Amino acid sequence: MQTKKIPLDITKATTSRLAEVDFDNLVFGKYYTDHMMVCDYENGKWNTPKIMPYGPLSVEPSCKAFHYGQAIFEGMKAFKDENGKVWLFRPEENFNRANISCKRMAMPEFPKEYFFEALETLLKLDEAWIKAGDGNSLYIRPFVIATENGVSASPSSAYKFMIICCPAKAYYSSPVKVTIAQKYSRSADGGVGYAKAAGNYGASFYPTNLAKEKGYQQVIWTDASTHQYLEEAGTMNVFFRINNTLITAPTSDRILDGITRKSLIKLAQDQGLQVEIRRITVSELVDAAKNGSLKEMFGAGTAATIAPIEGFEYNGDYYELPEVKDAYSQYLKKSLQDIQYNRAEDKFGWRY
Ligand code: PMP
Repeated sequence: MQTKKIPLDITKATTSRLAEVDFDNLVFGKYYTDHMMVCDYENGKWNTPKIMPYGPLSVEPSCKAFHYGQAIFEGMKAFKDENGKVWLFRPEENFNRANISCKRMAMPEFPKEYFFEALETLLKLDEAWIKAGDGNSLYIRPFVIATENGVSASPSSAYKFMIICCPAKAYYSSPVKVTIAQKYSRSADGGVGYAKAAGNYGASFYPTNLAKEKGYQQVIWTDASTHQYLEEAGTMNVFFRINNTLITAPTSDRILDGITRKSLIKLAQDQGLQVEIRRITVSELVDAAKNGSLKEMFGAGTAATIAPIEGFEYNGDYYELPEVKDAYSQYLKKSLQDIQYNRAEDKFGWRY
């Protein structure tokens, strides 16, 4: 992809904190790379993006993001191949989705050339933080916050678009138990579920904690009005395999248009697997679990790639999934990671 070169204001860190990181016992989100990107929006325009040492921000207590939740984020990863080359996976999708989220939250859209120029510069500076090897990656967190001071309930006139990065290893490796939401919702028609609005996540913590107290690691979110349609799994899209058909809900107002989801659909179709993008009800799932046709369930998202689900709770009953040989989840995860780590042909032009 060609983007116009734009000037950046770069201040390099004088020392690196890389040596402090215990990569063998990596705690996700604990360590951030030496640099970050900050771009301020003021007087109706985005200023020159700044690359600077990672560190605290100074904002006033009346900063609007704290009061009205005008804040959105993205999550993406960089992978290092065996030859030490760094690859991003479909970053344009994250960029586009950030702007979709901004629009929904009445925040200004960010220019594409700023995003790519800043991101590339940042990754070049902090390249040593990206480790090669399966499961290793650099998690990249672009986000936007409203920074105008003032507690009037109206859109901010000032924002910060930032990018911070932290090393990551594969997580959620063992299969999880989930519960199907019957009371709480993640999103609603006409709402903000399709945006990566910060508040969506804050609002999901309480019902997720209730699920955890009962021994379930995640909630399968259902539609807000009937709780009959299966929509997402925690902070992932969700797939069901009934017999040999892979089913996932269509995206909507309520469902995030996940990049992993759409990539898996494409890979599965390309391999001749039967894929149905349609609404699926709780009763269809329960029937399939009872008659043995439900073979797999898994979450799909950037953080975990694929998170296999071992069983689900509904109405007090727990349904355990069978152990399957040649699980689609394992096969699709490998196919996707082979592309991400530059071990397979990039048929669809996803690597950057
Ligand atoms: N749904 C929700 C609610 C999410 O937060 C995420 C993570 N971004 C996903 C799905 C998966 O999206 P992606 O594959 O783009 O990471």
